[in-house]
Amino acid sequence: MNMPQLIWESNRKEQCVKLNMNMAWFTRDRPGKDEPEDSGERHVRTEGLWLKCDSCGQIVWKKALDENLQVCPKCGFHFRLDARSRLDLLFDEGKFEEFDVNLASNDPLEFVDSKTYKERLALMKESTSMNDAVISAAGSLEGRRVHICALELKFIGGSMGSVVGEKITRAIERSAHDRVPLVIVSASGGARMQEGAISLMQLAKISAALMRLDEAKIPFISVMTDPTTGGVTASFAMLGDLNIAEPGALIGFAGPRVIEQTIRQKLPEGFQRSEFLLQHGFLDAVVQRADLKRYLAESFDFFLA
Ligand SMILES: [Zn+2]
Repeated sequence: MNMPQLIWESNRKEQCVKLNMNMAWFTRDRPGKDEPEDSGERHVRTEGLWLKCDSCGQIVWKKALDENLQVCPKCGFHFRLDARSRLDLLFDEGKFEEFDVNLASNDPLEFVDSKTYKERLALMKESTSMNDAVISAAGSLEGRRVHICALELKFIGGSMGSVVGEKITRAIERSAHDRVPLVIVSASGGARMQEGAISLMQLAKISAALMRLDEAKIPFISVMTDPTTGGVTASFAMLGDLNIAEPGALIGFAGPRVIEQTIRQKLPEGFQRSEFLLQHGFLDAVVQRADLKRYLAESFDFFLA
């Protein structure tokens, strides 16, 4: 066991004693709630029966959270939702058809950081049962056929590499071809550094495809969830006919700490959160998770009337 782990262990014990908690009943949340992190696993851990809400600090019964679409029943805080649950929520009866399931990255740069990119991909495939960070699907939403792409934050931070770029581009082209509206639900740290400039090219590729969709007059609604940052914000997430977000989502290009360090100024309260961005004209709406499906259906009725 290395040192940081030892320190973590001792903190954990100290906290238990302080709070007089039985650890088997609780999951421990991370220290800082503003830090976007790679795995996205901080919010919904399933080993305990109870968990502590990141926002109100109250103890919530996990089952109550599951029944409430992973929204805190006490304060309305939106916990992160994985891609598959998102699609289950949006498609009628949770039924959908998946596309391009077998597309996978071939590690064009033979990239190595703390481990090789190949190893990282293999680990991610195992833990998420996905080949990359997006599910591209079609089905019906309140009776209307739609294409929905949902990014998976647990897969290398929902980062956009060649596979995410290609799957989203194909979904856009399919939408244009079938004349079916498109929804992309983002949850991403941005472009995938392990694919370098190839990741960045996806921004242009997707943006060009979206322009053709626009010319075909097919509506595209971008749904931003916590967090939507970097190259994803800089491309498709902000290019919707409607750009909407879930409450409290971190949305931006660079993170608040990077900006603060660069401009050497304290940023205002709630900076880069959905509500702040709505107030300042960056978003068209902030929509509660429970209302999302209805909102999308009504928007498409409006666009396609
Ligand atoms: Zn809460």
